[in-house]
Amino acid sequence: MRDLYEVLQIGREASAEEIKKAYRKLARRFHPDVNPHDPEAERKFREIQEAYAVLSDDDKRSQYDRFGTVDEGESAARQAHARWAGGRSRVNVSFGGFGGFPDLGDLFGDLFRGGGPVSQAPETPAEAAVELDFVDAMRGTAVVVALRREVECEACRGSGHTSEKVCGRCRGSGRLIHTDRVRVRIPAGVADGDRVRAAVRTTPGGEVAVAVKVRPHPFFERRGDDIHTTVPISFAEAYLGAEIEVGTIWGPVRAKIPPGTQSGQRFRLRGKGVRSVRTGIPGDHFYAVQIAVPRVVTPGGRDLVRRVGELYGVDPRSGLPLGLT
Ligand SMILES: [Zn+2]
Repeated sequence: MRDLYEVLQIGREASAEEIKKAYRKLARRFHPDVNPHDPEAERKFREIQEAYAVLSDDDKRSQYDRFGTVDEGESAARQAHARWAGGRSRVNVSFGGFGGFPDLGDLFGDLFRGGGPVSQAPETPAEAAVELDFVDAMRGTAVVVALRREVECEACRGSGHTSEKVCGRCRGSGRLIHTDRVRVRIPAGVADGDRVRAAVRTTPGGEVAVAVKVRPHPFFERRGDDIHTTVPISFAEAYLGAEIEVGTIWGPVRAKIPPGTQSGQRFRLRGKGVRSVRTGIPGDHFYAVQIAVPRVVTPGGRDLVRRVGELYGVDPRSGLPLGLT
């Protein structure tokens, strides 16, 4: 078992509040919803959950501090899952979500409420959903959401009839549906699955929770606050090294490819990812280079490349098993 404090990147004297903060920060970063099909992130995410299950429980934490283990260490993870699975049902998310995991909206939730004190009233805020272009999500934007609410019919003052006749305005129901169009500012860096909250005077609870869906970009893939791309390079650039231009969400960045670079090798441009909505700290940009091969084979090229083949001292596949041994 890894050191649980290390997993949450905190000191041994961390307060309960600090533990919770660290957990939320890391859980957001490695959440399966923001790292789809990333087993490494999922492994980390589980590790974080396990660490939190122990360190957030006073008894278990003191046991862990004294003995370095917890009796039910193995079941702690399961408990954490059960707790979250139970907790999830009360979260109303219109899309996304991930069975058995804390919901991202939950992890973000109160941070979006702004600096003010969190309202004690457990009223359900109005819900809305928007779908954004990737570029708008990166830059921030404003959306107008329509919120429907029932109001008293002003023609009959809610009675359903005027003089002896049935009220024509509300057809006797005494109620009318009123639609408020509310402008909601979406902060730059908002991610798919986030919920943005905004104050709305007219709705119960005084706020609207806008579930944000972000359409994927054909080139930039977001994972947490990091951006991942693939950049084609020529064999000559891979072999000799080169300075290339890499497209990032902040514009082109010049980057060096070292000599002897392998296809699939990944490089990092620090701070060129998405600036976190919550912390303001930017993620990184990772790009994997892919050696592009000319599709058209010419006689001259054939001779040249045969000689390139001689550069390989050994069979590139030597050492690979040729079956189950
Ligand atoms: Zn009426």
